[in-house]
Amino acid sequence: MGAPGVGKGTQAQLLSSGLGACHLSTGDLFRAAAELPEQHRTPAMTAALEVMRRGELVPDETVINMVRERVACLRNSAGFLLDGFPRTIRQSEALDDILVAEKLPLHAVVSYELPMEFIVARLSGRRNCEQCKAIFHIVSRPPKTEGICDRCGGKLFRRDDDEPEKIRTRLQFYAQWTEPLLGHYLKKGMLLPIRAEGPPHVIYRKTVSELRKRIGA
Ligand code: AMP
Repeated sequence: MGAPGVGKGTQAQLLSSGLGACHLSTGDLFRAAAELPEQHRTPAMTAALEVMRRGELVPDETVINMVRERVACLRNSAGFLLDGFPRTIRQSEALDDILVAEKLPLHAVVSYELPMEFIVARLSGRRNCEQCKAIFHIVSRPPKTEGICDRCGGKLFRRDDDEPEKIRTRLQFYAQWTEPLLGHYLKKGMLLPIRAEGPPHVIYRKTVSELRKRIGA
């Protein structure tokens, strides 16, 4: 968990390749659906993409159904990593139901924390690869060649919802709907707060070390 721009997508990519965990990013699923021709999308998905472009939250049932359809990812033997889900109390309840039905444990809820001014700077300079989804930043993690992905040579783009107006909306939605979840997981003793300041590999090492302590590995 963490506000938009805190770096959870980058960490999720590092963690899933480092730990072999299945990475399920609901935001990536919506972005992949946005690439499909309109006739190949369900009406619920078309409505969800409209909501997403405005920087608002997609209705709970649409997101929950999408996660349910990908339950195989949660059964992965090296574990799973949910990125950007759950984002509301209703979604966290649905996740609890899925985990109980699948008899799967949830070891920790990592919460990346960063002051607001860092968040806005990160979001407005972020660039994503349209092919392999790698994430760059024009100042703190620039690609070797401007506009081109170091990893696969794909073209970099700025997400529609990384425009200043949309950033404000996303942060408001985070404060209203997602922040209350932190208290919920804190009470359950599952919250693992990590300060998300510094280079990605430093935050990654901190995360792995905290996770290992948590699961006693
Ligand atoms: P993200 O890449 O996680 O920042 O997600 C991008 C956008 O996708 C969000 O701003 C929402 O519009 C939508 N989205 C992703 N995950 C969820 C979720 N769990 N609940 C509602 N909307 C979501």
